Amino acid sequence: MSQKWVIGNWKMNGDLSSNITLLSAITHASGTAKMAVCVPYPYLAQAQVALQGSAVLLAAQDVSQFDKGAYTGEVSASMLKEFGVTMVLVGHSERRSLFGETDDIVAAKAASAIKAGLTPVVCVGETLAERDSGQAKEVVLRQFKAVSDYIGVEGLNQCVLAYEPVWAIGTGLTATPEQAQEVHAWLREAATQAGAVDISILYGGSVKAVNAAEIFGQADVDGGLIGGASLVAEEFTAIYQAI
Ligand code: PEP
Repeated sequence: MSQKWVIGNWKMNGDLSSNITLLSAITHASGTAKMAVCVPYPYLAQAQVALQGSAVLLAAQDVSQFDKGAYTGEVSASMLKEFGVTMVLVGHSERRSLFGETDDIVAAKAASAIKAGLTPVVCVGETLAERDSGQAKEVVLRQFKAVSDYIGVEGLNQCVLAYEPVWAIGTGLTATPEQAQEVHAWLREAATQAGAVDISILYGGSVKAVNAAEIFGQADVDGGLIGGASLVAEEFTAIYQAI
């Protein structure tokens, strides 16, 4: 059985005062899945203290593929580790589309996270144009394979996967449970063929309290990566409890 997860991605949101309220509220949520929150870099220290003693794991939204050195603006996996981070998103579609992250960069980032002992949450997903032209499977599996070939089965076993159709992120459009399940099954098969065991595969894309249970009810959906709704404590807690 794969581990169930609900992971919040705050994106570039938050401030010192509202973070405290939100973090304190989510630490009181009870449920059976694991919960993590991906906070912006400047708030890692604050969140590390706020989450201390709770079961909520601290995560980051990105990581450098480099270990150290002359890479202005970059943050290394070992730096994240020093602030109690245990997981990090790699290949989020916003990083791919707005910041030019290629499959190769995403793979190198996953490797650098693993090297430091962090769990990479490897995000994959097709655009609407790719889906409409019948390329969803090819795109998602190409993105998966780039990472899997680079880190090998040992690395893969330390990853969480997230299927996030680009057309559903922040748009209010959600994949139907059947669409999500279809892609998750492709990913499950590819991961199994690569030798991975019980990898968790999360769905992300406009998950809300009202649609979470139906999506999480699919056989190959092991939870969610939640953007906008993770900024509202009651909403995020309700999603967490829908699993
Ligand atoms: C995300 O940022 O990973 C995401 C899924 O966003 P949203 O839930 O807002 O669509």
